[in-house]
Amino acid sequence: MQRHVDLDRSVRRPAYANWLGNSNSITQQFMAIGGRKDVVSLAGGLPASEFYPKAAIEDASRKALQRWGSAALEYGPIEGFPALREHIAARISKAAGRSFTAANVLLTVGAMQGLDLIGKALLDKGDLIVAQHPTYVGALDAWRPRQPSYAPLDWSLAEPAFSKRLARAKFVYAVPNYSNPTGALVPTAARQALLERVMASGTWLVEDDPYLPLQYDGDAGPSILALHGAMAPNGPYGGPVIYLGTLSKSIVPGLRVGWTIAEPGMIQNLTLAKQSSDLSSSMLTQAVALELLEHDVEKDHVPGMVERYRERRDMLCKTASRHLSDWFEWEVPPGGMFVWMRAKDPRIDTNDLYAFALEEKVAFVPSSVFDNAGELRNAMRVNFTRTPPEIIEEGILRLAKATKRYLASLG
Ligand code: PMP
Repeated sequence: MQRHVDLDRSVRRPAYANWLGNSNSITQQFMAIGGRKDVVSLAGGLPASEFYPKAAIEDASRKALQRWGSAALEYGPIEGFPALREHIAARISKAAGRSFTAANVLLTVGAMQGLDLIGKALLDKGDLIVAQHPTYVGALDAWRPRQPSYAPLDWSLAEPAFSKRLARAKFVYAVPNYSNPTGALVPTAARQALLERVMASGTWLVEDDPYLPLQYDGDAGPSILALHGAMAPNGPYGGPVIYLGTLSKSIVPGLRVGWTIAEPGMIQNLTLAKQSSDLSSSMLTQAVALELLEHDVEKDHVPGMVERYRERRDMLCKTASRHLSDWFEWEVPPGGMFVWMRAKDPRIDTNDLYAFALEEKVAFVPSSVFDNAGELRNAMRVNFTRTPPEIIEEGILRLAKATKRYLASLG
């Protein structure tokens, strides 16, 4: 993947920080490709903009300004808009079956800022993260400047050294619901087993849950936060789970409203970390988000959107079965936004295939970016939510053409 380069070599300037040597611009590239009309982008993790509830957002924006006036236009408390913190605390209490208060809630600029702040608050150079592997590229990006080390989270927990490793780790990172990039749903028993090991080891567990609303085949089951809630139902929340939620997938990403739920001491330290990031995130979008949530916009909006996404997932898997199954295999994801296609042919390196795909005007995300060391080369993440069904079909045809040409080039 493309590394950061200083193009103007004629001027001598101080060097960039060391961590940039281990960065990549892949997310930037995908955001740019998403805007190109000639490319079928199955790359980004984006919702379908044609379903955005624009009228509800327009209405909520007007109501928010009428209700809060200039309070919605000021800098605000670093922890977030107080009424929205209360609302999110009540929402999480309902979902997790135990009581949370505003002291357990930090409002963030999307869940992405929560990941960044967790890195800022917990990681020193070389610290260990035990992470689901392959790992969400945004999390790797968020923690890269802290220069941590990684060990993979094996959900079977069978490895003898696993408990020792947990005791050394600063935190475990997992996306149990329809993981990015694999789309996998982790069974409840495995979540419970991990939680027990985490509790015994005394480390933190970051549960990143943006895809919860996008369920296609039945229920996701309880979050790890809820499982912990059932074990410790009384008193102020003091558990090891740091839970991240967002409105990006259920309403729109452009609000940039997310939340981090944790015990109050962690929230305080994350707030200190946030202070130097943005002083205060937008009170206006938080006030708009509050209106949307109070008027239950998700309840009106999500079921229809999920139905469309299910059709798109099915179209992608059906077309891929027809045109890609000689070279790739995958599981149909029960939720989320992605199909994780693993190469059957050991010669396939998806970094190299990517160049051929771009020539055919189709984009996916190569597996290497979901590996901290960049060494995972045999898979690709394919998105189905952003693109209408007939264009998905065209994208898969192009991908098949690219794969044929790529393999032919290997001789
Ligand atoms: N975590 C995961 C696993 C994600 O896939 C995403 C979005 N791609 C995020 C966090 C960030 O979401 P946002 O900042 O939009 O809330």
